[in-house]
Amino acid sequence: MASIALRALRRRIGPLSTSNSRSISTLVVGEHEGGKVKPSCLSAVEAAKSLSKDNSISLLLAGSGSSLREAAAIAASRHPSVSQVLVADSDIFTHPLAEPWAKLIHLIQQRGNYSHVVASSGSFGKNILPRVAALLDVSPITDVVEISDSHLFVRPIYAGNALSTVRYNGAGPCLLTVRSTSFPVAPIFDDSKSNEAPISQVDLSTFSEESIGKSRYVKLASQETERPDLGNARVVVTGGRGLKNAENFKMIEKLAEKLGAAVGATRAAVDAGFVPNDLQVGQTGKIVAPELYMAFGVSGAIQHLAGMKDSKVIVAVNKDADAPIFQVADYGLVGDLFEVIPELLEKLPEKK
Ligand SMILES: Cc1cc2nc3c(=O)[nH]c(=O)nc-3n(C[C@H](O)[C@H](O)[C@H](O)COP(=O)(O)OP(=O)(O)OC[C@H]3O[C@@H](n4cnc5c(N)ncnc54)[C@H](O)[C@@H]3O)c2cc1C
Repeated sequence: MASIALRALRRRIGPLSTSNSRSISTLVVGEHEGGKVKPSCLSAVEAAKSLSKDNSISLLLAGSGSSLREAAAIAASRHPSVSQVLVADSDIFTHPLAEPWAKLIHLIQQRGNYSHVVASSGSFGKNILPRVAALLDVSPITDVVEISDSHLFVRPIYAGNALSTVRYNGAGPCLLTVRSTSFPVAPIFDDSKSNEAPISQVDLSTFSEESIGKSRYVKLASQETERPDLGNARVVVTGGRGLKNAENFKMIEKLAEKLGAAVGATRAAVDAGFVPNDLQVGQTGKIVAPELYMAFGVSGAIQHLAGMKDSKVIVAVNKDADAPIFQVADYGLVGDLFEVIPELLEKLPEKK
């Protein structure tokens, strides 16, 4: 009886309005470091811009101390597409623990009724957004590389060998993680003051200590390096198992230094202990798309290609002419890396 009545009602008012017809407002999950908004988070803002021309974008920054305040001030003044900056100032968010962050985003989404929540597809976003989706009882769409409209997205499947177009039909908010390499950020000049977005403090009075959850921050172990971040570098020099050991891998590091490049590695090189695993490029490592990607002693396994094949120019050096890396390389040299790299090091000028 009820379903007949509903069908009759639908005939009168036409199809039930879908979430497509709602106005678009987006919460971008921000990350900051050293008083600056991280580039990957600015890519998430770029992605949010493609959802709709009339999108109202709120950028969430959380943590504590001067880094948070500086990052919020910069985001509010220099990023014209940001309509407001939301600041959650509490020690609870100083470290990227998934439970409190997920609860914070859930809380803000509920208060602001955002139609979309966007985070970058890094380890932070991938850890947090699915938990927010669970709290909201919606299905997230991950690893988005193209936004066709506010509910139509393209994402890679089968380790990047096929692209799948996905329409979001859910009634609740649409949660996305986006690949930063697919949404490049236009350069912003330091002295440009192009925006005056308001900065609002998030009311955390209802946020209980229990929200901290069961996980506990222990420590961050990272190597001090002046090299650019692998995920955003313009040039990446990668070494594979062909380097044979950690000592030889130092040649890759020297070359990267001369070129002002980031260092990458294959999983085989990481598993063999040549370098730490945060340098791994590929399906289960980082996804990169630099201007120049140089691969030495890398066979070009499908799982490695999944992480670098969108690079603008790919150069490969391998002693095996049939190595699959040559199928994606723009410039390939069949040769011994133990001869090629020393020659490059000799001929390249020192970095100024
Ligand atoms: C589920 C899954 C996920 C994976 N994820 C990743 C990932 O994220 N990233 C990744 O990289 N791999 C990943 N792998 C592993 C992947 O399948 C390959 O095993 C790995 O990429 C191979 O690394 P490689 O090219 O360094 O080693 P190899 O395949 O052993 O190739 C070494 C190459 O070096 C060349 N070489 C040797 N000596 C020299 C020399 N003197 N001069 C020039 N060339 C030389 C050889 O000809 C060879 O082509 C994954 C695998 C699985 C199953």
